[in-house]
Amino acid sequence: MHVWKQVAPLMLHQGGKVLRTLLDSGHSAYFVGGCVRDELMGRPVHDMDIATSAKPEAVMELFERTVPTGLQHGTVTVIMGDYPFEVTTFRKESHYEDHRHPAAVEFVDEIIQDLQRRDFTMNAIARSLDGELTDPFHGASDIRYGILRCVGQAEERFDEDALRMMRAVRFASVFGFRPVKSLWRALLTSRDKLSFVAMERVRAELERLLLGPDPLRGLELLRRSRLLHYAKIPYVESQGSGVLQEQLGVLGHMPAEPQELRWSELLQGLGISGLEAEDRMKEWTFSNQVARTTAEIMRFDEMWGAIRAGISDGSAERLRRSWTELQVHYGQEISQLWLERQRIRLASRGAQGREALLRLDEEEMRWHRAVRVHDLKELAIRGGDVLTALDQRGGPWLGELMKRLLLLVAIGDVPNEREPLLEYVKAVVKQNGG
Ligand code: ATP
Ligand code: MG
Repeated sequence: MHVWKQVAPLMLHQGGKVLRTLLDSGHSAYFVGGCVRDELMGRPVHDMDIATSAKPEAVMELFERTVPTGLQHGTVTVIMGDYPFEVTTFRKESHYEDHRHPAAVEFVDEIIQDLQRRDFTMNAIARSLDGELTDPFHGASDIRYGILRCVGQAEERFDEDALRMMRAVRFASVFGFRPVKSLWRALLTSRDKLSFVAMERVRAELERLLLGPDPLRGLELLRRSRLLHYAKIPYVESQGSGVLQEQLGVLGHMPAEPQELRWSELLQGLGISGLEAEDRMKEWTFSNQVARTTAEIMRFDEMWGAIRAGISDGSAERLRRSWTELQVHYGQEISQLWLERQRIRLASRGAQGREALLRLDEEEMRWHRAVRVHDLKELAIRGGDVLTALDQRGGPWLGELMKRLLLLVAIGDVPNEREPLLEYVKAVVKQNGG
């Protein structure tokens, strides 16, 4: 078998076995789509999709371990060794409904017909077992020149499936490809059709764009095309190009993981508040977890900014106490994420940020590390201990008191030891008149 440089040898071996099995049974079969493209681009291949003339039932009979993942589209997942391979019967798609779903798929005999239904020339290349390319739309050449081009008439293709417009912007951004004029023109003509596409699919593309290597380029394309406006995420295009650069220039310096760093930076740059962010993100179908963490980083940032501005004499001790309170409230993870983001923000400002960076290390960073307790479970006493010591019955006051103890221990006013904590509790109760 000829060389693939970007594929793990074992995956290639197993994928080759799948192809060989199909060929030996008299079907035609190829590697196709993203894996062929990524190999040509010199990018690591993560999975290998296979297209074949064999019908899904035949595929399921030929292989021992299969999962009918998308029978209505002709897709069966074949598991070979440890690797899953999506095996899809050659098909064409006829009359689309509502600019998103082909109403019917029709199986066909030739790979060329199958390649014709695919979105972009770079994604419409097949590679045989012995390495020969079937490339009817000159995708390899477009890849070489960094050009993004639809298979066939762009306007028609976007009209069939409006998600392809988001994919176009995503691919242009992630690969740094230039869309050809006709594609861009068609995108501007057809962009309102994006409103027919499920938010979840739009969000998935947006995610890959923002977490890719050049998020600013993607955002600039989104701004110019106003695509997101039609997907009811209307913030990006309300910004001027300069604003994007200025507010969001730092995005490219941030790691893509954890993703909340970039999301929080983006939303804040677009003028969304921490209070608003969580609901917005849930509307846009982000997971509750991502929405919450993102919004909390933003709120932490807003609160800490306000506190810093409010303690204008810069009293380090007052600042430390406030920081600790904030950290105990939002938790260690959020405080850690904020610090990570702040460090990148300041570092991206060059000489200007250097002093602030030093202060971050001296102050917030150090205070962060000094906080030893974040959770009531970490306290040396339990609510029950308090009740026994005071000989009282529980009530809402107990929760309040325990939280107060946690904060005092975190700040360092009371050591996290049983006796001093109980002493403190007794003193407070006495002071309040029992
Ligand atoms: P990646 O997985 O890196 O995003 P990919 O090209 O593998 O890239 P997939 O979404 O996995 O993208 O799709 C596999 C292939 O299916 C594509 O290469 C393309 O040929 C085809 N394809 C996917 N989505 C569409 C679409 N909306 N319209 C036409 N063809 C598509
Ligand atoms: Mg893929």
